[in-house]
Amino acid sequence: MKLNVAIVGRPNVGKSTLFNRLVGKKLALVDDRPGVTRDRRENEAKLGDLLINIIDTAGLEVAEEDALETRMRLQTEEAISMADVIFFMIDARTGLTPMDEYFANMVRKSGKTTILLANKAEGKAADGGFYEAFSLGLGEPIAVSAEHGIGMADLYEVLVKHE
Ligand code: GDP
Ligand code: MG
Repeated sequence: MKLNVAIVGRPNVGKSTLFNRLVGKKLALVDDRPGVTRDRRENEAKLGDLLINIIDTAGLEVAEEDALETRMRLQTEEAISMADVIFFMIDARTGLTPMDEYFANMVRKSGKTTILLANKAEGKAADGGFYEAFSLGLGEPIAVSAEHGIGMADLYEVLVKHE
């Protein structure tokens, strides 16, 4: 059984960028037939030799008539419920926002195994946000850059313990 890993966090922290990085080339194989436009955000992914099933929160389908805020909350709840392990992501460049706290609360309440990712950690501009992340109560953050592929080995080391 592959581990289900959901990437959770407020918009714009870099969830989809990490999703795409971990899914890699396989993403191109997903429904590029004409007429099949739906963006699938759940896929098999590889981290080192670990084969996992990765879930990107924002692609999960929820009722469209709901307000954006409600949809975001529902998608996050759905992602959390599907997950064996949660990657909770913050943007280390902007630092914590009330919305980060809000989603962190949902994750904490789920009681699921959570790995805290301080993304956009390439360069010094991320130092402040990295240290702020400790205050979420989700353990020690791992500094990553989804865009530049930094921290993937550290992420592997932590995830492999939960396999
Ligand atoms: P999502 O809304 O959480 O899915 O975030 P996206 O993956 O769409 O990324 C939001 C923005 O952050 C995009 O402009 C990305 O290019 C940027 N981004 C993602 N990862 C990184 C990173 O590691 N470093 C930097 N500097 N920007 C990033
Ligand atoms: Mg996204």
